[in-house]
Amino acid sequence: MTTTPGQQAADDLAAVREQWGDLLAAIGEPPRRADWMPYERRGFLDQLAADDRDGDDQALAEAAVGRLPLILREHPAPANLRALDAALDVEREVFEMCDTVTDHVQRPGRDASDPRLWHVPTHRDAGPASVASAGSRAYGLHWAAVWLEGRALDDDPADRALFAPTPATLVDQIVDVARTARRRVEGALGREARTITLAEECPFCLAGRITVHNGGGDPRAALATCSTGPSCPAPVTTERGRRAWRG
Ligand SMILES: [Zn+2]
Repeated sequence: MTTTPGQQAADDLAAVREQWGDLLAAIGEPPRRADWMPYERRGFLDQLAADDRDGDDQALAEAAVGRLPLILREHPAPANLRALDAALDVEREVFEMCDTVTDHVQRPGRDASDPRLWHVPTHRDAGPASVASAGSRAYGLHWAAVWLEGRALDDDPADRALFAPTPATLVDQIVDVARTARRRVEGALGREARTITLAEECPFCLAGRITVHNGGGDPRAALATCSTGPSCPAPVTTERGRRAWRG
């Protein structure tokens, strides 16, 4: 089964929102050095759930602030500027894409309180400093990504009452924005798929070179192989004729 452009965009947007909590958490922590292995941190959403269970009102209040879009809140002394830049860029691009799609496909004269609609920001006069209402941006990146996924897929007949079909050229734009956003988030989190060859020779056969693939954020897909082949005495299994370490 081939992946349609709309499905590809939806997949990338889902990956962005699923990693958004990690990116927000990363803003407050000093950046890690560029390791080849993926790293996992306890997700922001896990923390929310834990706080919820604890019934800690203070934590819940802070968590609610954490869900606000970045453009609407302060960033006192961010520790990881790369993560902050990535988050601000991704948020702005996704929000602007939602605004553009809305202009093209959202049918006018709908009930303004309908939560399925996207509302563009309103301004008192020109300039971003004069924003009178943040519109749907107030719900943050997660909601924007879900909304945009819906317009990229455009596969729910019930949507026809609210939205015109999303033109293919517009879907292509969403595909670009979604792909770029995913790359930026995964890049800032050190989760890009990478393959490197280590400078040291294999410690078992003392001849082969070790090639490492980081799994692109999936620890189960991380793999290291020795170039020597089955004659390498490393005490691991062989995959495609090479000694292979997983995980
Ligand atoms: Zn070896």
